[in-house]
Amino acid sequence: MPSALTVIRVAVPRPLHSLYDYHVPEGQELPLVGARVRVPFGNSRVVGICVENDVKEGRIETKPILDVIDQEAAIPATLLDLAQWMSQYYHHPLGEVLATILPSAARRGSAFEIKALPIARRWLLKQADFKNPRATRQEALVQWLGTAVTEATDGVPEEAILKAGFTRDVISRLVDLGVLEAAPEIEPAPLQQPLDPTPAQADAIKAVRDSDGFSIFLLEGVTGSGKTEVYLQAMAPALNAGGQILVLVPEIALTPQTLARFEDRFGRTGMIHSGLTDQQRLQTWLRCKSGELTILIGTRSAIFTPFAKLGLIIVDEEHDSSYKQQEGLRYSARDLAAKRAQQEDIPLLLGSATPSLESIFNVQRGRYRHLLLADRAGGASMPSYHIIDLRGQTLHGGLASSLIQTIREHLAASGQVLLYLNRRGYAPTLLCQSCGWQAVCPDCDARLTLHRTPAVMICHHCALRLEVPNHCEACGQGALLPLGQGTQRTEDSLASLFPDVPIHRIDRDTTRTNRQLNAQLQQIHEGQPCIMVGTQMLAKGHHFPSVTLVAVLNADAGLLSPDFRAPERTAQLIVQVAGRAGRAAKPGQVWIQSHQPDNPLLGRLIEDGYAGFAKTELESRSLAGLPPMHPMALLRAEAENQALAQAFLANCKAHLEQVQVAQEGGPEARVKLYGPVPAPMARLANRYRFQLMLIAPSRNTLHRLLQSLGHPRVPAALRWSIDVDPYDAL
Ligand code: ADP
Ligand code: ZN
Ligand code: ZN
Repeated sequence: MPSALTVIRVAVPRPLHSLYDYHVPEGQELPLVGARVRVPFGNSRVVGICVENDVKEGRIETKPILDVIDQEAAIPATLLDLAQWMSQYYHHPLGEVLATILPSAARRGSAFEIKALPIARRWLLKQADFKNPRATRQEALVQWLGTAVTEATDGVPEEAILKAGFTRDVISRLVDLGVLEAAPEIEPAPLQQPLDPTPAQADAIKAVRDSDGFSIFLLEGVTGSGKTEVYLQAMAPALNAGGQILVLVPEIALTPQTLARFEDRFGRTGMIHSGLTDQQRLQTWLRCKSGELTILIGTRSAIFTPFAKLGLIIVDEEHDSSYKQQEGLRYSARDLAAKRAQQEDIPLLLGSATPSLESIFNVQRGRYRHLLLADRAGGASMPSYHIIDLRGQTLHGGLASSLIQTIREHLAASGQVLLYLNRRGYAPTLLCQSCGWQAVCPDCDARLTLHRTPAVMICHHCALRLEVPNHCEACGQGALLPLGQGTQRTEDSLASLFPDVPIHRIDRDTTRTNRQLNAQLQQIHEGQPCIMVGTQMLAKGHHFPSVTLVAVLNADAGLLSPDFRAPERTAQLIVQVAGRAGRAAKPGQVWIQSHQPDNPLLGRLIEDGYAGFAKTELESRSLAGLPPMHPMALLRAEAENQALAQAFLANCKAHLEQVQVAQEGGPEARVKLYGPVPAPMARLANRYRFQLMLIAPSRNTLHRLLQSLGHPRVPAALRWSIDVDPYDAL
């Protein structure tokens, strides 16, 4: 083979740590670094990324590339750097990291063409009594427009009609018949002016605006303190300088309400979340890359969007667990935001009412600058706390009588009530009254949850659905009794306790679609007295100005968990739920039901607030040698064969111990290895799961040791992974 051939190095989307060399056949253009190329791989052809385009010491025998897809870098230099950094930090193959970064349409090789945005057309119904028995779709659309849409004086957006399942063809036929008419264009609403900032807001805004280049700010602001206003005003200088802004929000908080707050101020913004089609996602991605879109709001994966000129990153509710990807490439979007801000030499603004202990620790050691909003904007007061001692009480549908009485009082005073219960379904257990048998999932170490309407047993871990048994599978004769409370059951009890009050249940079962959720929220926002009962969907992000009473129905689950992060999570949850109360003029109350009313965590939280709690909790983490002072990683392994998974981790441990003995330095310089032990969910979907925990004195020691694992070859029946900075560490 003539040596004049140009050889390039390609990362392929496979779980393999090697990069692969190919040559560029004569007459074929040379791909840029970061461009997508189609290459033969094994028996197939794959889309890879060119990571080096001038390999000097390539192998003699290389295959030719098939095709250069991009004339530009699909992955710009900064993103490629980020990918390389991630590959090292998370010990994950570069090809898979790059595949994660690319939108799936791009991964498949779609051309990068920005399509003109569709015109936002709206249609008016002219003849509501239109009938045509021979054209049922036309009739159906007329009927849909007449009922589904009430006060649509501006017309119904074409997008909504298409979404409801009607075609453009049906629309245009009705237009021809004069039944539909295009609505006149609406003038865009004038953009909203900035609010007059409070002194604390003004200080925070100024700090971010004055920052030059890379720095990280932690904006700690109690719920309702006006963090969003700080975000909006901190964005101005970057926007004026022609820069782009990336705003990350938790999965659950990306509601039309959130989006509207940015759009009302700045006009069009882009959005990236899991509900988009592949093409929509790619289009938004390309508009950010070209610089056309100036503001992007997105969930976790939006951190991988390329920008022509990024000027500021904002991470709202930075403590939220949804920023951590829990499978595959286990990255933290918040931590990557810090890395990216550093690369791009721009500020990063992290905001939360309940910052993660990681971020508070970074403030303590001078890495982040602390900005504080201690009071609610607009003068609303903070809620007051009450603990209900559940010991020895008879509950009605999971509610203590004193709580029921309080609910009555708040409703009578025209308040709304919010009840938090982190269990969907009817009852978490179905129990045989005579022998104690419980309905369990055949594939997991878990009980099945009883659901009603429709009646079904569901495993909340592997999603298996089974019929509700009508007799005990052990003794065959005992009566089966639902035990414990889920949101459905609480809803039922509330309906009989408060027959005249609207009850809104908000959990994943009632809000499968955004539309369902929005319909519920709209009723709530009308402000009439009502009771909401729901899971964490209710606890985050939403504004409920008329809520005066919030109750946490069962605080014990969090208080009793042995996970070292459980106190932090429980405190965050209580403060966040409490933050829904009394946001407007009416003061709020927070009631917490617990069998452990003297639990020191509850006491500290109520007396010292979240900041005081966090300080004490950080001290105990430090004493216990835990994160954030001591970095952690988990090796996980799972297989249908229990011994296989366990033996793999035992071998890893033996290897790591050997490596450490061979190294210099005393025991305190070594990484501590705990396990292997069965995972908390020891069997999931019929696979046994084990884990080995590593806790290191420093990041470098941790990474060096993980590096020494190399890339062990394992049987196909075994799955294993490395989780650096695990969120669920138990
Ligand atoms: P957070 O995100 O900190 O929970 P928000 O940004 O949602 O708080 O603000 C809470 C409420 O206070 C909102 O209704 C907002 O419009 C209002 N608000 C924020 N800043 C001001 C201000 N400077 N003056 C008056 N109202 C404000
Ligand atoms: Zn299961
Ligand atoms: Zn039985």
